[in-house]
Amino acid sequence: MSKLAIAGGTPVRSAPWPRWPMLSTTTRELLIEAAEGTRWSVVSGYQGRPNYNRRFAEAFASYTGASHCVLTTNGSASLLCALEAAGIGAGDEVIVPALTWIASASAVLNVNAVPILADVDPHTLCITPDTIAGLITPRTKAILVVHLYSAVADMPAICRLAETKGLTVIEDCAQAHGARFEGRHVGTFGALGCFSMHQSKVLSCGEGGAVITSDAALSRRVEQLRADGRVFVSTPPPIGGPEFTIGGDMMGSNFCLTELQAALLLGQLPQLDEQQARRIENARHLDEAIGALGVYRAQSTSPGTTKRCYYHYPVRLDPDRFAGIPHPKIVEALSAELNFRVIPPYPAMHLNPLYAPASRRRYHLSPEFLARIDPKQYSLPAAEQASRTHACIPHFALLGTRQDMQDIAAAFEKLDRHRDELRA
Ligand SMILES: *Cc1c(COP(=O)(O)O)cnc(C)c1O
Repeated sequence: MSKLAIAGGTPVRSAPWPRWPMLSTTTRELLIEAAEGTRWSVVSGYQGRPNYNRRFAEAFASYTGASHCVLTTNGSASLLCALEAAGIGAGDEVIVPALTWIASASAVLNVNAVPILADVDPHTLCITPDTIAGLITPRTKAILVVHLYSAVADMPAICRLAETKGLTVIEDCAQAHGARFEGRHVGTFGALGCFSMHQSKVLSCGEGGAVITSDAALSRRVEQLRADGRVFVSTPPPIGGPEFTIGGDMMGSNFCLTELQAALLLGQLPQLDEQQARRIENARHLDEAIGALGVYRAQSTSPGTTKRCYYHYPVRLDPDRFAGIPHPKIVEALSAELNFRVIPPYPAMHLNPLYAPASRRRYHLSPEFLARIDPKQYSLPAAEQASRTHACIPHFALLGTRQDMQDIAAAFEKLDRHRDELRA
């Protein structure tokens, strides 16, 4: 029996994995076309044809079924604009999952509101009406739902709860492009849906973001928030003229996506479904192969999910069977077997070293506010345990072959066989 790769043994796999991001011929052509033009910023003179920002925003709105889409610099900016467009501000409380990327909570702080951390369901790793309900107070204004890793949160149930309490629902779909619940695209259940097109995400332009909504007034507010208070003109100006005009409702900031990035997205959108179909098929093979080992559990999704987006494929390790092994060692051992970086789950937000709300002078850090944002007030057992017991396979690995999935399962089998050595 060969030794673990981290102990000097032969790795399960040393062949390369599919590259990410990918560059298709269409994408390359669109990118060059955009770069050859003189309009690199969307806030620049009209050139006699629809700009790439508008073209991608329309394509993505139509892909998701939303009426409006506004592009932003990144997912964090999308969350910020969505929260402010929804009227969330100083002192308001927003319920946020305890297991997610830091930006879901820091965006709430950045509009001067208070994130209230909700525990997650141990199987879907998403928040549910049960984990949300007890946290609602007279100050609660919104619920920020994250569709985490490969799961879709139970949106109809969460929206029903929000409606009875008069709360706005905002969906953080940074990890869920293409995911659907009862046939409907995520991001269209809440008032606003926010996407990230960061390098790591399944639709990427390096850094980018989008907000979708079917409410014209909200869309107009998001537009103003991302372009210093300006909105697109409704009819094209003369060549060279400005395509933006004063919105008149809100002061904004500059969160505009460049034309080069919008062109990249426009080129890649048509590949998304095909890539997703491949990931879904491979995830099915992985479910089988890893399930057959009998000691691991894959993430589940809410009943009613009709299409999953596999951003990560998290595998749960039985806490008793792997007791006494430091979690980073497990991730390191799997990474060494597989020749890609297996990803640890997020730390629970209140234990995340990146979550330091009192470190910013922009907030009024009164004793009352400090008490409300204090991470030490929390105990979130499901999120804490999830962060110690999962190892995540990144989405590009699921673009491989069926044999590649066998390699992934073989690495988990080897890990289990050698677990006592890891403990030593
Ligand atoms: C990536 C991500 C974000 C932030 O997006 P950026 O583009 O990196 O700013 C927010 N929420 C979740 C759940 C994410 O995964």
